[in-house]
Amino acid sequence: MRPSWQERFAEASDVLKSEKHQQTVVRVLDLEIGGRDFITMAGPCSVETEHQLLSTAHHVREHGAQILRGGAFKPRSSPYAFQGHGLAGLKMLAQARAETGLAIVTEVMSEDDVPLVAEYADILQIGSRSMENFTLLEVAARSGRPILLKRGMMATIGDLLKSAQVVQANGNPNVILCERGIRTFDATLRNTFDVAAIALLKQISHLPVIADPSHACGRRELVPALARTGVAAGADGLLVEVHPDPDKAWSDGEQSLNFAEFDAMMASLTPYIALREEALAAQTLETVG
Ligand code: PEP
Ligand code: MN
Repeated sequence: MRPSWQERFAEASDVLKSEKHQQTVVRVLDLEIGGRDFITMAGPCSVETEHQLLSTAHHVREHGAQILRGGAFKPRSSPYAFQGHGLAGLKMLAQARAETGLAIVTEVMSEDDVPLVAEYADILQIGSRSMENFTLLEVAARSGRPILLKRGMMATIGDLLKSAQVVQANGNPNVILCERGIRTFDATLRNTFDVAAIALLKQISHLPVIADPSHACGRRELVPALARTGVAAGADGLLVEVHPDPDKAWSDGEQSLNFAEFDAMMASLTPYIALREEALAAQTLETVG
């Protein structure tokens, strides 16, 4: 890594690559995030009903996902929108894990809810709106669960790294960074997918990096192209919204893939994932040789 990045991100030095620490691998159930395997986290924006969640879980598992996503506590921009089922949603996620073996990632919004969410989730998601809620970061870190840290929609790469450093400083090395799009002058799409952030984070940080093409654009017809771009930029995995009937979704239907669209996206990713594997194998040869 160029020394100028070390200087630039000196306040987040523990999450930067060093000679001793090139790559963090986060272990969840039998998965290794940040390792050789490409990880797909898929599922609905919100946990709605048992049928919605379980049918999605079974489908995505059969078509290549390893982790089920789904919000039980939802950070909604409108105070009148569906806020999530809370504990009932967590129980449905646990049932889906029991039936499918998929690991669970779900958002925690308040430090008061950390013990409860940590009891059900394999990975705690810190949402974009909470990336700089340092009390939440500290309490979530101390739960011991791996943390999926989503980039704030107005956060710089440096801000994201500093929040990751807060989690590490609270004794939790298992942080996964997530690029989910940022706000820019162009409001044509929901957000602007910052693919350079993925490439840069992979170069300078030892933490795994996940791309979220769904929130990055807000339009389901663009999600597969953004997913492929994320993989090409070096992402270790994807977080993608999938729903049995997106037009009837209680949140983020516009950007959710239906089952057939998910399958098509996964098929289109195959050559990109193969290239990623080749690049990783070449890197290993370089270090060994
Ligand atoms: C989500 O993953 O559904 C979500 C609310 O994401 P973000 O925090 O990135 O908006
Ligand atoms: Mn969503």
